[in-house]
Amino acid sequence: MDRQGPAEDPLDNTCNLTLILTRACQLACAYCRMNRDPGAVMEEPVLRRAVDLLMAGPSPQVALDFSGGEPLLRFDLLRRGLLYAEEAAKAKAKRLRLDLSTNSLLLDERKAGFLIEHGARIHVSSDGSLATHRRNRPPVSGPSSAAASRCRQSMRLLARLGVQFDATMVVFPKDVRSMVGNAGALMDAGASVVQMDCALGMLWSREEASGFAEGLAAAALEARRRRAKGARVAVESSCFGNPDINSVLMAIETDGTILMGCTPTIERECPGLAKLLRFGSVRARKSLEGLRRTPSELARFILDRMGPGRERALYVNNMVVGLSTRKALAHRGLAPLPGRAATGTASGPARPSRPGPWAGKNAERWILAELACLEAQAGDMPGRGAWDGSGEEEKAGLR
Ligand code: SF4
Repeated sequence: MDRQGPAEDPLDNTCNLTLILTRACQLACAYCRMNRDPGAVMEEPVLRRAVDLLMAGPSPQVALDFSGGEPLLRFDLLRRGLLYAEEAAKAKAKRLRLDLSTNSLLLDERKAGFLIEHGARIHVSSDGSLATHRRNRPPVSGPSSAAASRCRQSMRLLARLGVQFDATMVVFPKDVRSMVGNAGALMDAGASVVQMDCALGMLWSREEASGFAEGLAAAALEARRRRAKGARVAVESSCFGNPDINSVLMAIETDGTILMGCTPTIERECPGLAKLLRFGSVRARKSLEGLRRTPSELARFILDRMGPGRERALYVNNMVVGLSTRKALAHRGLAPLPGRAATGTASGPARPSRPGPWAGKNAERWILAELACLEAQAGDMPGRGAWDGSGEEEKAGLR
C-alpha cells in the first residue's frame, strides 16, 4: 500500500473508506512499511459490513478505495465488493466514487474493462522511469526488469483503452533530482495525474526535504507546460494539504479492524503509532461518524499520546517535510488549497522564505499552527470534536 485512499479533498474524511482486501503482494518495494502477509484476506461479511458503515453516513457522496497489499490478487472479492457497494449506494441514493490502488502486475483487458464499465478510477503505483521503478519496486521473486516492464505495459493498455488513470510515485531522498524526469516518464506513459509523495517512516534532512520541494515544483511546472500544449496532465501530492503521515482517511483492515489512514503504510517502522490509530472492529460499530477528525485534531491526539523516542521523531520529521513542502510551493503559487486551483506562475527556488523548526517541541508547535492555518484557509472542516480518549471509543470499549 502506498496510497492513502480516495482523496479528492485530502482534508475531508466524511465519506471515504479504503478497504485492505489482502496483505499479499508480489512486490517488495524498498519503502513499503506494511506487514505483508499472503494469508491475510478480507472475508466477504467484513467487506459488506464496511460498505454498510460507509453508506450509513449522512453524506450524499461516498468514495470507496480497493487497496492492499495488491487488491487484484483477489479480483473475485473486489468484483463482488464493488457490485455490492453499487447496489448499496443506489438503495441509499448516494453518489459513489470507486478507486483501485494497484501495482498493476495483474491488470489485463478483462479486469480493466470491468473497472472501466463501473467507472472506477485506477491508480497505478509506479516510480517513473524503468530504472527508478526497477530499483525501488523489486518483485518478491523473479527479475525486477520484468515487473517494471509489466507495469509499463499495463499503463499502455489503459492508455489504449482511452482511460484516464493516475500514477502514484513514492520518492526517496536519493531520487529527488530525478523527480521531474520520472513524472515526465509517467505522463509520457499516459498518466493524467501523477501523485508524488515523499517516502514515510524515514528521517529526511533539511537539504533532502528542500530537494523534494524543488522536484515537486519542477514536476508541477512540467505538467503546466504540457497543459499549455493541450495535454491533460496534473501533478498532485499529499504535501499540497495534510501530509500522508497524518492522513485522516480511514481504512478497514482484512480482519475488520478500523485504522486511521497512515497506519498500514508505516506500521513496521512505527508500531506504536500504528497501535494508537486502531479503533476497534467494523462488527462493533453502528457508524463511523464518531471517529471523524480533522488533521489538527489527529495531530494533537498523536502528539498527546506518543512517548518520546524514534517514532515521535519520525512522525514530527515527516510532518515537517510535508508541511514545509506545501509552504515552499505555496510561496510560488504552485500548491493549491483544498478545493481551489493553484494560480501562481512565479519561478525561482522552491524554498520557503523562512524555514520552520525541524525537530523537537518547537517543531511540534509549528506543525499544529500550520495545520490550524491550513484548516482555516480551507473553510469549514468535517468531524470536529474532542477526541480525548474519553469519548465514544472508550465507552464502547473499542480502545
Ligand atoms: S505494491 Fe504496495 S503493498 Fe506491494 S510492496 Fe509495494 S508498497 Fe508494499
